[in-house]
Amino acid sequence: MRPSSDTPTHLELYRNFDTIGGVCHTHSVNATMWAQACREIPCLGTTHADFFYGPVPVTDVMTADEIKSNYELNTGKVIVRRFANLDPLQIPGVLVANHGPFTWGKTPAATVEAAVVLEQMATMALGTLLINPKQDKISQVLLDKHYLRKHGRDAYYGQK
Ligand SMILES: [Zn+2]
Repeated sequence: MRPSSDTPTHLELYRNFDTIGGVCHTHSVNATMWAQACREIPCLGTTHADFFYGPVPVTDVMTADEIKSNYELNTGKVIVRRFANLDPLQIPGVLVANHGPFTWGKTPAATVEAAVVLEQMATMALGTLLINPKQDKISQVLLDKHYLRKHGRDAYYGQK
């Protein structure tokens, strides 16, 4: 029951993302491959669009100074910096460059769900680009339809 060695990362996220109630970090294989490649995961289909309102961003590569001292805190800071113009509830995860995925959500359960879904999204994007390396992201109108019917003020997806 002792706190994670990554606690300073989590605290930095809680201090800056006031809508979240959980943080999860994994090295799930496919999401980690995208993080190691320093490539954002483009939104290639509606599975992705149901959960993330846009590509999964990747952080800057951490500098030597950021790595040498306060590494865990600085991991949080590079994530926060990447989200300067993003809503953490609309984009509930990130790829830390050279490292792996972090996810979050309103609740601990939503946070773990985001980690599982992100790994599936990473797997599907990898396979999609293997089948067709030229495949482009989906249209904004399809992204809007799938994200907004499940999230936000006008959500209507599911059973009444
Ligand atoms: Zn790690």
